[in-house]
Amino acid sequence: MLGLPGSIRACLFDLDGVLTRTATVHMAAWKRTFDEFLRRTDPGAGEFTQADYNRFVDGKPRLDGVRDFLASRGITLPEGTPDDPPEAATVHGLGLRKNQLVHAELAEHGVEVYPGSVRYLRAAKEAGLATAVVTASRNGAQVIEAGGFADLIDTRVDGEVAAAQGLRGKPAPDTFLAGARALGVPPAAAVVFEDALAGVAAGRAGDFGYVVGVDRVGQADALAASGADVVVQDLAELLDGEAS
Ligand SMILES: [Mg+2]
Repeated sequence: MLGLPGSIRACLFDLDGVLTRTATVHMAAWKRTFDEFLRRTDPGAGEFTQADYNRFVDGKPRLDGVRDFLASRGITLPEGTPDDPPEAATVHGLGLRKNQLVHAELAEHGVEVYPGSVRYLRAAKEAGLATAVVTASRNGAQVIEAGGFADLIDTRVDGEVAAAQGLRGKPAPDTFLAGARALGVPPAAAVVFEDALAGVAAGRAGDFGYVVGVDRVGQADALAASGADVVVQDLAELLDGEAS
């Protein structure tokens, strides 16, 4: 009924791009942040692209995204501190600038959910499966609340929880493993739903029972190559009678 192996007892959902349409908000905020920075400091380095987002940033903790993208362009910045202003040419400064842009966009336009994902969430709950959101976002609780599906989520491992517990971000499997532990199931009895290459890699690295790649940007082959057992464009495809 849910399109999963019979051994699965818990679902671990990434948030941005899997349950909510916020991956596009993050992409736009990163693009503006990096393009402004590159124009200012290194005009020859070109622009931040969707391919850069998919490869170097998506799914990772914010500061890892800053470091990994800049490294791809041969740029190393001082770390700075969380008190840096958003215009500081530091890892923290760029991360703060990006976060401000995300907050402004979400405050103005709200959080859009994927209807197929919410239907899937509800079906999973009705089938008796446990559910967790596992996200690098430090705004996980607010986004879940604003998305209106908090009642369908049993537990949450977001960027705040990861920082408090010292968990490594995706592509390390730590946050997904913490989600399974919180739900009381071994990794082999949990499924990971991810739209990011780093997230699918985390699901594979954690030896989870099943990994569903969710392709929102035309990277099905890369998701499969990163370790997805199946790739769908919408979670509703996994529900009975809706397979495409
Ligand atoms: Mg995502």
